[in-house]
Amino acid sequence: MIKILENVSLKDKNTFAVDCRAKYFTEVLNEYQIPEILETNAFQSSKRFILGGGSNTLFAKDFEGIVVHLANRSIRIVESNKKFVLLEVDAGMNWHKFVEISLNNKYYGLENLALIPGTIGGAITQNIGAYGVEVKEFVHEVRGIDTTSGEFLVLSNDDCKFGYRTSIFKTELRGRFIITSGIFKLSRKPNVNLSYPELKKLVQKFPFIKPDPKYVFDQVCKIRSSKLPDIEKLPNAGSFFKNPVVNGETLEIIKQKFDDVPSFELGEGKYKIPAGWLIEKVGWKGKRVGNVGTYERHALVIINYGVNSGREILNFARMIQNEVYETFGIHLDFEVEVIE
Ligand SMILES: Cc1cc2nc3c(=O)[nH]c(=O)nc-3n(C[C@H](O)[C@H](O)[C@H](O)COP(=O)(O)OP(=O)(O)OC[C@H]3O[C@@H](n4cnc5c(N)ncnc54)[C@H](O)[C@@H]3O)c2cc1C
Repeated sequence: MIKILENVSLKDKNTFAVDCRAKYFTEVLNEYQIPEILETNAFQSSKRFILGGGSNTLFAKDFEGIVVHLANRSIRIVESNKKFVLLEVDAGMNWHKFVEISLNNKYYGLENLALIPGTIGGAITQNIGAYGVEVKEFVHEVRGIDTTSGEFLVLSNDDCKFGYRTSIFKTELRGRFIITSGIFKLSRKPNVNLSYPELKKLVQKFPFIKPDPKYVFDQVCKIRSSKLPDIEKLPNAGSFFKNPVVNGETLEIIKQKFDDVPSFELGEGKYKIPAGWLIEKVGWKGKRVGNVGTYERHALVIINYGVNSGREILNFARMIQNEVYETFGIHLDFEVEVIE
């Protein structure tokens, strides 16, 4: 039995805690409810938004359509052998809970992605990444429904067209495909990834410790808790902006004015510049305008200090975009999805 509710507040369904409303709202507890949802008048005749944990979404105003909230949350073993396990995880399952469950069962690989808020569906859509690892490295297949044809489909890792914080679900299939579950391939053998400088430094500092996946998980949780604001106390959506990628010529021009600009070579003449550095350089780290501001310990994170309207957060983000553009000639893209 499905329920379509009307005029529903989404305040507790987005980590910015903005008090916007959805004209229609429905919750999916089991993927077999979706075909029925697709048949409803509310779905057929209005705009749609597929919502997971709302930790990468900014509702800049009320949503004049239907919000489909994924809340299916089970895990199944699809295949298991000495080398790896294939786990099918429902789209509405909390990401960090899945990381914990897999580690407790000695299925390895996801430790570096610990403590990222949101759901499996959101993690796949965004191709989440942290501490030198991206989720695409573990996605075997993605299952879901094409809302145009009503067909259940299985997409391979290649089909998902993963990129930096993006996938086919944000591009060609945006608004058309509901991810119902992800199938993850995890290793049965511990194999830690310490490529990220902060983790590498720890190992150098404490050479007597032999880092196993549980150690990496604990350290990642510790570092993240010390650097990032708690969403319960300081509502936010993580990094608001993507790190811009520029060509060598642009980097040289910036270096002439700011010789301390950090950059990471990506190959093919492209360089990534940390967006946080650019924001800090224009004086916006820890800056507040009314009840919106950047976090004092992390310039990329915008905090809602008490506004009800997402519009004020969006206006603040645009002010940062303008400042960075005027100083560096670089346009910062939003990592957060803004719904207007
Ligand atoms: C404190 C904090 C720290 C963070 N740190 C990181 C980090 O280190 N790395 C990182 O990559 N991200 C980070 N994020 C961002 C965010 O947590 C991730 O992007 C997360 O995966 C979003 O998941 P969600 O379920 O909340 O997605 P939502 O915000 O609900 O949705 C995001 C997008 O995914 C789509 N979507 C969600 N579920 C489905 C589905 N089932 N089917 C189809 N489309 C779907 C939505 O339509 C939307 O386009 C952080 C956020 C916070 C608040």
